[in-house]
Amino acid sequence: MSTASNRILPELDSLNRFFWTSGADGQLRVLRCADCRFWLHPPGIVCPKCLSRNLAPETVSGLGTIEALTVNHQPWSPGQEVPYTVAIVSLDEQQGLQLTTNIVGCPPESAFIGQRVKVVFEAAEDVYLPLFTPA
Ligand SMILES: [Zn+2]
Repeated sequence: MSTASNRILPELDSLNRFFWTSGADGQLRVLRCADCRFWLHPPGIVCPKCLSRNLAPETVSGLGTIEALTVNHQPWSPGQEVPYTVAIVSLDEQQGLQLTTNIVGCPPESAFIGQRVKVVFEAAEDVYLPLFTPA
């Protein structure tokens, strides 16, 4: 398994800070429209469905399904452990609500499209990276 020190960390800003620090209490949060209840990720300032600006983070189940994945054998940054699995995970809360993430806690070659996964957090500096592991 990889360690926190060798992942590429996100740039935090006022829009995405809640997302990258949400795992501090073990819960994943996604921005949601308070008017039409649409989930949006990555975070924005306007709901793409109803154009409301009444958006706030809400807790999600942390459960999802692997939609696409690739096993990377190339260390793109110094100290990065390979191989590792990059995946697009769609969250259960809404069709098309997807995160790009890493699959951890299983051999990279064993992850598969359609696999059920759940979120786990890896603390690194001031962020909690949402990663996914077989459910
Ligand atoms: Zn809306």
